[in-house]
Amino acid sequence: MSQLALLGGTPVIANEPPSYSSMGEAEKAAVGKVIDSGCLSGFFGSPGPEFLGGPRVREFEAAWAARFGVKHAVSVNSNTSGLIAAMGAIGLSPGDEVIVPPWTMSATAVSPLIYGGIPVFADIEDETFCIDPEKVAAQITPKTRAIVAVNLFGHPARLRELRDLADRHGIYLIEDNAQAPLGSEEGVATGKIGHIGIASLNYHKHIHTGEGGVCVTDDDDLAGRIQLIRNHGENLVGHDGISDAVNMVGFNFRMTELSAAVGLVQLADVERHVSIRERLAETLSDGTRDLEGWTVPKVRTGCRHNYYIWLVKFDAKAIGVSRELFSKALAAEGFPHYLAYVPPLYRLPLFQRRVAIGREGWPFTLTDRRYDDGLCPVTERLHENEAICFEPCAYDVDDALAEKMVEAIRKVHAHRRDLNALAETG
Ligand SMILES: *Cc1c(COP(=O)(O)O)cnc(C)c1O
Repeated sequence: MSQLALLGGTPVIANEPPSYSSMGEAEKAAVGKVIDSGCLSGFFGSPGPEFLGGPRVREFEAAWAARFGVKHAVSVNSNTSGLIAAMGAIGLSPGDEVIVPPWTMSATAVSPLIYGGIPVFADIEDETFCIDPEKVAAQITPKTRAIVAVNLFGHPARLRELRDLADRHGIYLIEDNAQAPLGSEEGVATGKIGHIGIASLNYHKHIHTGEGGVCVTDDDDLAGRIQLIRNHGENLVGHDGISDAVNMVGFNFRMTELSAAVGLVQLADVERHVSIRERLAETLSDGTRDLEGWTVPKVRTGCRHNYYIWLVKFDAKAIGVSRELFSKALAAEGFPHYLAYVPPLYRLPLFQRRVAIGREGWPFTLTDRRYDDGLCPVTERLHENEAICFEPCAYDVDDALAEKMVEAIRKVHAHRRDLNALAETG
């Protein structure tokens, strides 16, 4: 193989890979019909048939519920909105604790704060990067109201185990299923094992509607409360004779007819959009698995991994080059990637300064939970030393380009000692 591109050689991948687009003619036609109808949203925030949205929204929800075999699918305008609605629906109250992982999109961890809930971080597993049930169990107190499991990077958390743990303690399991639309554990779809599961349909996910989300649940009461929180529930409480008015300050989390129309088409083709990403990730794993100091993603027995992110654990000692330098060389070869995912979320100023809502530090005044460094050592180590991430969802990669990606990684690994001269001379 030729010299490293970082040292003046020719890059393996000449051009930036094109972006993946899941949009096609069917989506265009579906949107066109909504435009022609003149009505881009069918919602009214008051009692009456329009309280539950327009025809496409309802059709989309019915299709989603049928596709995943759930009793209720409630569409929202984002996964973030869905998380907030879920926190409201379970009756979360100021001072209640919600156990969350520190390695996830920030919305997962901050959503309890909207209701005065206290996020409590439990560390992740070293192999699948999902929240560790043992660490969760150690954090449960009489104040715990819910556990949020994220099926991170497309791999299911230990959902059955977490659900059993939640049931034993009489608390809720909520699944943030933004990254694993077709994940499964022992044949059961992700999103369905928790009391509520929440999908994301933002642009970066496997399928999307621009912005959007869907909450699924088999519980009639929870579904009804999510619908109320989604759409100005305060206006319905008196009219519908709802006795439990807890958290019935509503929002506007409504999905538009445009998004629902796109969502219907995307949903019909979700298997294809997910399996393309899975195949790319598997090609990268199979092509680089043998490399020393380079640990490709593992899939727990009985699970389906959707590979929202393909994360490699880099062992600088075994490889003999720093992660940063290796990454520079990889980038020079044209392999798009980044180091780390997000910082452990308790490092956000919000937690460090213990101020979320208002000026008085509320709701942190309700707890003596601390958010110091060292809280979740597995997450900190992955973030600081080990993670190299590639996003199969982001790029349109054919088999030839996938092979080039493998070649780029193998080239840098094979020539890694050449990088040490660079490190020494600075
Ligand atoms: C994308 C994502 C979210 C947020 O989704 P939105 O639809 O953008 O609100 C939340 N959690 C996880 C794990 C995500 O990946």
